[in-house]
Amino acid sequence: MPDEMARPLIQSRGERGGSRHLEASMSEPGAPVIGILGTGDFSRSLATRLVASGYQVVVGSRTPKRYVALFPEEAEVTSQMEAASQADLVFVAVFPEHHSTLVELKPTLAGKTLVDVSNGLSINQDGPSNAEKLADLFPESSVVKGFNTISAWTLQTGPRDGSRQVFLCSDSNKAKSSVMQICRRMGFIPIDMGLLSSSLEIENLSLHLFPSWRIPVLCTLSLFIFFYLYNFIHDVLHPYVTAGKVVFYKMPIETVNVTLPSVALVMLCLVYLPGLCAAFLQLWWGTKYNRFPDWLDRWLTRRKQFGLCSFLCAALHAIYSLCLPMRKSAHYKLLIAFKQMKEGEGDLWVDSEVWRMELYVSVGIMALGLLSLLAVTSLPSVANTVNFREFTFIQSTLGYCALSMATLHTVLFGWDRAFDPTRYRFHLPPTFLLVLILPLAVLLGRLALFVPCFARRLRQIRRGWEKSRHIRFTLPEDERCNGLEDVSNV
Ligand code: NAP
Repeated sequence: MPDEMARPLIQSRGERGGSRHLEASMSEPGAPVIGILGTGDFSRSLATRLVASGYQVVVGSRTPKRYVALFPEEAEVTSQMEAASQADLVFVAVFPEHHSTLVELKPTLAGKTLVDVSNGLSINQDGPSNAEKLADLFPESSVVKGFNTISAWTLQTGPRDGSRQVFLCSDSNKAKSSVMQICRRMGFIPIDMGLLSSSLEIENLSLHLFPSWRIPVLCTLSLFIFFYLYNFIHDVLHPYVTAGKVVFYKMPIETVNVTLPSVALVMLCLVYLPGLCAAFLQLWWGTKYNRFPDWLDRWLTRRKQFGLCSFLCAALHAIYSLCLPMRKSAHYKLLIAFKQMKEGEGDLWVDSEVWRMELYVSVGIMALGLLSLLAVTSLPSVANTVNFREFTFIQSTLGYCALSMATLHTVLFGWDRAFDPTRYRFHLPPTFLLVLILPLAVLLGRLALFVPCFARRLRQIRRGWEKSRHIRFTLPEDERCNGLEDVSNV
């Protein structure tokens, strides 16, 4: 049995000693003969998967003898013309630059389905797409766009180990349905994207480089640089300039560790601030039918990415904090403090400090726990298992709890140090004071929306009430008392 499991699904010609016996699957009678033009990486992987799914495959090459050994022996490798005439449906696994070299196959391919699997080199906003150009070259064939988002590697390893969705579009429903069927039989999930005009979108899909992450990542980096420099000036440069104290060793860990929570907290505020802006704008306009400015629209759609960046910084802060006692400098400081205590110069146990630390750590852990919950529920596979109200409850109500905890964590870190003049180095306020401005503003804004007159008006607006229309509007009784979730949508 173990030997059976270790045997590959499809063996190459060499491994079988030339036998044409089909081990994994037999091509089924009535199944279309699938042609593939091109013998590159994609073609080889596709042929292997198609043969394993029970299709008869014929590969068309300019030099068939050269590549025949690279294909499973159940697939026939022949000339392009021969493959085109034998196949019922043809995958064009040739780069789009070379599509025009296939025009001599036009009469042979007339009335057949061509599947264009090509990708572009860069994002094409204006069109036409490769598939549309192929359709112009072969007007008598039905062109289907698809499989371009599936890599040769995914085809080879099988759909369980990669993206399973295959986006398809075509102007011919019949051709699209037959490709969908092949798709399902290979274990993929076909997604109907409509007419061939969607092919540009499908081609661009695999070329995007984290478009929704660009601004959140830039924000995180900018905030990190700002707070790092601020902390450096405050904690490292100031003692050096004013007292000649060399504490540059703080730069890799201590300075980073006070920077990370600042970035995490500000980023978390940036998750909830656009919702508040939207709510106050709607209250101001007295309608929900005005379009938000573009920047606010974009900000609202990037909240998940802002939240995940915040979570990353918070998690890194937790790890850095756990590592603080491991440092040589921490051991040294502890020994000095111990020595001073023995000489009667100081006391290691200060009640208020002990309490501050206990509360600070506890609230920090709770904030990180809630942030982890928010991060997990933002994953599509988890988000799909909760309904809209549950999702809103977690992301909004628990999200605000996380923000409150993180703010309290920062307040406890500051404790009474805000009133200590020595903390205002170079006349700059300590970092925690600076960081607290935004979360306090967001939390106050959120509290303002709980004021009954605002909460009620916002609920009315969200149900279609408009100030300018003077329509008498009453909410159903049960919706009036359920204010928390209703305005939590912000
Ligand atoms: P490749 O390894 O370079 O293979 C391209 C094949 O095109 C060649 O092996 C060649 O086969 C054939 N061809 C036919 N006419 C040609 C000509 N005039 N000049 C050059 N080659 C010609 O490329 P690939 O990676 O398999 O990609 C093929 C297509 O699949 C591309 O459109 C690509 O965008 C798409 N795709 C690839 C992947 C991937 O993971 N590789 C994923 C998604 C989509 P013969 O010499 O035997 O004729």
